[in-house]
Amino acid sequence: MPRLFFGGIHPADRKELSGGSAPAPAPIPSQVVIPMRQHVGAACTPLVKVGDTVKMGQTIGDGEGLCVPVHASVSGTVVAVEPRRHASGGECMAVVIENDFQDTPARELTPHLDPAELSPEELITVIRRAGIVGMGGATFPTDVKANSGIGAVDTLLGNACECEPYITADDALLCTYPEQVLGGMAVLMDVLKPGRTVLAVEDNKTEAISVLRSKLAQYPGIELKVLPTRYPQGAEKQLIQAVTGRQVPPGKLPRDVGCAVFNAATYASVYKAVCEGEPVTRRIVTVTGEGVRKPQNWIVRIGASFESAVAASGGLTDDVWKVLSGGPMMGVAQIDLTAPVGKGTNAVLCLSRAQNGESAHPHCIRCGKCLTACPMSLQPLYLFRFGKLGDRAELERLHLSDCIECGCCAYVCPGKLPLVEQFRAGKQALKEAKKP
Ligand code: SF4
Ligand code: SF4
Repeated sequence: MPRLFFGGIHPADRKELSGGSAPAPAPIPSQVVIPMRQHVGAACTPLVKVGDTVKMGQTIGDGEGLCVPVHASVSGTVVAVEPRRHASGGECMAVVIENDFQDTPARELTPHLDPAELSPEELITVIRRAGIVGMGGATFPTDVKANSGIGAVDTLLGNACECEPYITADDALLCTYPEQVLGGMAVLMDVLKPGRTVLAVEDNKTEAISVLRSKLAQYPGIELKVLPTRYPQGAEKQLIQAVTGRQVPPGKLPRDVGCAVFNAATYASVYKAVCEGEPVTRRIVTVTGEGVRKPQNWIVRIGASFESAVAASGGLTDDVWKVLSGGPMMGVAQIDLTAPVGKGTNAVLCLSRAQNGESAHPHCIRCGKCLTACPMSLQPLYLFRFGKLGDRAELERLHLSDCIECGCCAYVCPGKLPLVEQFRAGKQALKEAKKP
């Protein structure tokens, strides 16, 4: 198996469970819970109050600084503005809307059939107003990333690798709506004016590759690059290295090596915002795993509960063990199914007891496997040890902040150490210690 970046793993992908069918619209819930925090940065402030009538696509929360607005995903009446459970853990302020099932549109954005009519600045304004974030799960505001790349980027990348096992949301998007992805890339080409534009796909997506090849002639300047399947190929730094050979130095950003990377679903959102005047009110979600009866991709309204998405897929099986927001490598375990689907929710993964890889007595046998698996060339066994000791100086020296929480080390660890959980806690401790 050829490797285009250091480390990584090749786990069984289990994509056959949910792959192979076009995403279907999920049943629309009678109530949606729209979190005010669906992006990296400052949470939105609610712009509506209990009793207000809202239209579908209406801006219902916004804020200053690193922040993008959130929109109503149904029309109806606001019945609560209060903290509700969030898929990343804990609670967050949310606007709860009782659906009137009319989908009365707000039409806040104007569709532009020819995006070339707009200047780069105008396009970025539309992207912000539509509330677009990194839809692969990173949720970084897209307008900020695009703006910071103007004049600094010579290579625009499309990330359609979807390397996490089980998840097929982007694959379904590419097969069913390739024009949205390629159209969104064309819009960001207008913004960034790159010398090279590449859409990267892993070689396990054969149908998507053939669909994209059949469309490429209509999108001059976009190159398709098929990469060998290897996790975490879709991580930004690994993708840049695999496609361009450039290495992003520790602590630096893709634009520092002349690159900008956006996920396939992010491009689709850009297309829908600019060309169809639609803000982010729904997304494709893979509901899958051995713990759900009928795994499938769904088009889900933002704010629909995990419970409603799982119910659409026939409900949980009797031997369900754990439900995650996201994939098995980077997903966040849920304590129940009340959290709402957000802009960054690409999957609801329901694992069965057979997938329980945890150990009652985790211990390090110093085998060194984590060292060769880590794509960031870190030393996970020592990060774990010093994390447990709370030795922040050693964690800094060992570059804990470069950990991308990909889970490769935990996957190969025969001692079953909770490595990623420890690293997340360590990174949080380093962040807290730096606060004035
Ligand atoms: S989770 Fe962090 S330490 Fe472990 S393999 Fe990934 S980058 Fe390396
Ligand atoms: S893979 Fe696990 S058991 Fe092996 S050295 Fe790393 S932490 Fe220890």
